[in-house]
Amino acid sequence: MNRRLLLLFIALGYINTSFAQKSKKESYTVNEQQIAETLRFLSSDDLQGRNSGSEGIEKAALFLEDVFTKNSVKPYFITYRDTLSNFDKPAYNIVGYLEGNDPKLKDEYVIIGAHYDHIGMATAIQNGDTVYNGADDNASGTTAVTELVKYFAKTKANKRSILFCFFSAEEKGLLGSYHLAGKLKQANFIPYVMLNFEMIGVPLGMDIEAYVTGYSRSNITEKMNEYAGAKLFGYTDFAVKYQLFKASDNYPFYLEMNIPAHTVCTTNMNTFQYYHHLDDEFENMDTAHMASFMQKMLPVVTKMINAKTHEIALKK
Ligand SMILES: [Zn+2]
Repeated sequence: MNRRLLLLFIALGYINTSFAQKSKKESYTVNEQQIAETLRFLSSDDLQGRNSGSEGIEKAALFLEDVFTKNSVKPYFITYRDTLSNFDKPAYNIVGYLEGNDPKLKDEYVIIGAHYDHIGMATAIQNGDTVYNGADDNASGTTAVTELVKYFAKTKANKRSILFCFFSAEEKGLLGSYHLAGKLKQANFIPYVMLNFEMIGVPLGMDIEAYVTGYSRSNITEKMNEYAGAKLFGYTDFAVKYQLFKASDNYPFYLEMNIPAHTVCTTNMNTFQYYHHLDDEFENMDTAHMASFMQKMLPVVTKMINAKTHEIALKK
């Protein structure tokens, strides 16, 4: 082989792979079918409403551990299971992490979470139904986090490390997140931001696509819109009216760690009719909306994780 030709081929090969890597990164597509499969399973009658400590939620726990294993997400503790110390039945947060690719920033964590429990079964049959499937609340947020697991496992685009948390016993009073936030505070754990996903199964129907709870607590809305290059997030009156900031798993992280900790949501609490209702079912979810929303969230979450400084900060 001619040396000059060899060098040329090496150069061409390099250009080729760098193009391929670039287009691979840019062309990652959130798969609606995959979202529908995950959501359908998590909200199926077989899981009996995912009450904490029940046989039904155990099936969800096994499923989520499997998502971690298949995507080479490592257990943060000895196993994926973080046993709640504040609940009277056996209940587990499912916790895994992906190490960051920057030698310095990887010491810090962005916490991405969603609760996977719900409220179980009704005591009496209503319209032939007894299962609180909790498709929007919160099989949808759980599904969103599984999509982020798959995206970051595949692209390895994260400079900071990511702690993925599926919380149990949220519906019992945020017990899983209180337990975990307290435990991490005692450990040598350096958090940056906590982003929690709740109720993203239906579109908001406003001129924004989503909101975070605790709008006025930090600059996260502004920064996420900047990362998205669009006005994706904005203010809603009901998030304040119902004090949603204190109503989900972001809140214990804010209290324990004093960091920006918010819940991302697309459900309009003024108009959604199925909150803790037997009809919060897969059939009433909009998986095209979920796929499109998560597609827009990928660059937002990536830029958040990779920011050189703590751009997102609490307001004084
Ligand atoms: Zn919920």
